Amino acid sequence: MNALHSCELCPRRCGVDRQAGERGFCRAGADAEVFRYGPHHGEEPPLSGTHGSGTIFFSRCTLRCLYCQNYPWSQQGDGTAYGPDAFAEIFRVLHTAGCHNWNLVSPTPWIPHVQQALSGLREEGISLPVAYNTSGFESLETLARVEDMVDIYLTDLRYACEGSALEGSGRADYASIAREAILEMWRQKGPLQFDDDGIATHGTICRLLILPGRAEEAVDNLQWLAATIGPGIAVSVMSQYTPAFRAPGMEGWHRRISRSEYDRVADVVGDLDFDIGWMQEFEGDAPDELIGFTMEPGSGI
Ligand code: SF4
Repeated sequence: MNALHSCELCPRRCGVDRQAGERGFCRAGADAEVFRYGPHHGEEPPLSGTHGSGTIFFSRCTLRCLYCQNYPWSQQGDGTAYGPDAFAEIFRVLHTAGCHNWNLVSPTPWIPHVQQALSGLREEGISLPVAYNTSGFESLETLARVEDMVDIYLTDLRYACEGSALEGSGRADYASIAREAILEMWRQKGPLQFDDDGIATHGTICRLLILPGRAEEAVDNLQWLAATIGPGIAVSVMSQYTPAFRAPGMEGWHRRISRSEYDRVADVVGDLDFDIGWMQEFEGDAPDELIGFTMEPGSGI
């Protein structure tokens, strides 16, 4: 795994030798670390299908969002280190369980491990569509590296301005990096495609999380997607923001989104007329849980 000797797998380009025990910003080590895996039914309908999306929640993350709901494993390192054979077994278990895809959540620091595992499994004839579930904070070099491995990009696009990105995730340049990355994802995979059962097999989905006080940034990103890529990109607009981790004590981040913020984004989504998309219902102050998507594939928003 040469990439680990001088790790530049994400835009932070730490250059640390993870094989020698050095750790960079994300704190990822030499062995793959996974917090949890299993069939997941809370993704967009063409990913979850009827048997679930074979989701692998990796430990570590290349961003540190102050409101991260996954912070015990993304930022504090909870999880288990797996050697190559045990790591490949995770994919085998999800395949045997009948999952529709392998859904890699925050996989960037672990790409060499995934490539090694998948190459062995494919030699055995075991294969599923691979969904690359990312914050969008990706380098073009890494996207080139995974082009042949990935079938579906499932990417966030969170901020449109530098101040929010710096405050929320510690990188003022997030939006410019993510937008460039999404253009490359779209170039590689294009629009979402489905099998006869409506399960996604290939393509690109962009997720936009509405952040409190920042509905206009979601609007900006939706307009950018429509103008730059066009209505063919599948969008998934999420209203589930919950002030987790450090957010409860942070002015501007300590509340859920308001009804008016939700309505503002919903109006713009309707106007832009994307071919395929989903929008979570407004939950107000309801408990933190993923709610159903209102739209079916192909029906538009
Ligand atoms: S994946 Fe981790 S160690 Fe590698 S460049 Fe990114 S933050 Fe640094």
